[in-house]
Amino acid sequence: MTVEQQTTNLLGMDQTALVKLLDSWGDKPFRAKQLTRWIHQRSEADFANMTDLALAFRERLREHCCIEAPSVLSCHVASDHTRKWLFDVGGNNAIETVFIPEDDRGTLCISSQAGCTVACPFCSTGHQGFSRNLTVAEIIGQLWWARQDLLASNAKTRLDGELTDPSRVISNVVFMGMGEPLLNYDAVLGALRLMLDDHAYGLSRRRVTVSTSGVVPIMDRLARDCPVALAVSLHAPNDALRDRLVPLNKKYPLHELIAACQRYLTVAPRDFITFEYVMLQEVNDTLAHAKELCAIAAEVSCKVNLIPFNPFPDSGLQRSSSNRVHAFARVLQDAGVVTTIRKTRGQDIDAACGQLAGDIKDRTKLTQRRLAQASAHQLRDIAVTEVRS
Ligand code: SAH
Ligand code: SF4
Repeated sequence: MTVEQQTTNLLGMDQTALVKLLDSWGDKPFRAKQLTRWIHQRSEADFANMTDLALAFRERLREHCCIEAPSVLSCHVASDHTRKWLFDVGGNNAIETVFIPEDDRGTLCISSQAGCTVACPFCSTGHQGFSRNLTVAEIIGQLWWARQDLLASNAKTRLDGELTDPSRVISNVVFMGMGEPLLNYDAVLGALRLMLDDHAYGLSRRRVTVSTSGVVPIMDRLARDCPVALAVSLHAPNDALRDRLVPLNKKYPLHELIAACQRYLTVAPRDFITFEYVMLQEVNDTLAHAKELCAIAAEVSCKVNLIPFNPFPDSGLQRSSSNRVHAFARVLQDAGVVTTIRKTRGQDIDAACGQLAGDIKDRTKLTQRRLAQASAHQLRDIAVTEVRS
């Protein structure tokens, strides 16, 4: 009888984990640094090519370990050069990753879960239901793969043949893809450590943003363990509406969320929190809502990012008109709140915020889906009543 050996995927191991593994083999800790550099800076997946490692060590690595990112199912490039990858994470689950190039930076938007339990009615991921948490290797694998892919295509398109500085292709990472990162905290923390490690990706804390729907106790853990830039998906300025738009609000209502933001700010690498606010026609976009939002903004040092709703099939919701978005922004700006309106990117390849659904079999049962649709319609009715009363 043969005993099947388990292969350890090194892609998801930060230096502490690598040192531990190497120590169990009697190898020196500095090997962990070398390995980290090979894997993450040089994107090397074949131990045989890690030429400054002793031959016997490479052999042992080959025998017991692998370097494996989720496999790519497709890659689409939008007319505005936004790029979207679909990764297979097994069991009929797929996740999406989006790269948004801008003049002064390149932002990678990554996923932390296949599906999401929070079930916000305006979010395509939320409509899918939840499949599972991603592992560290699956989270960091998105960055690992995207970086290589972008470098390869940049090298092809540059006429002078000069390679783009690899450290600059992806300058920012945001956890704004599929899933609620703070409900997969251990894996997200492992991935964050690799992103910030100078021997891996060396990203600045200020350029890595975790976006959360407001998991209050885990916001405190993140503040303690690895403070990075924080975005909070607010979407409503009062509990009655937020209970419906972000159902997690029933567990962690606004006053708790605001207090958690204030605590986070004492250690945050930036002196503000970004409040995300999806603009839904006649749901949360009235001037009265804007005034309520001003009151919240007065309590927390923040910037407000208004996101015009990106529609997806069966959401039952509509994007606020441009006039309403601008009028809403003006109320905030007049009250001295720094407010931006998010530009929609990659819409022709369904890569915009909230459109990421990992284009595979729908995991949600039909009845649940109908319920979600019904509640989306109810939402609008409730909001309209609120405005009129
Ligand atoms: N779960 C986390 C991070 C992923 S969602 C969170 O909710 O913050 C990333 C951002 O996209 C959130 O602000 C979310 O509210 C927003 N979003 C979701 N669906 C959207 C849609 N259909 N249109 C515009 N923004 C959307
Ligand atoms: Fe989950 Fe965020 Fe989508 Fe809400 S908006 S369902 S928290 S991914």
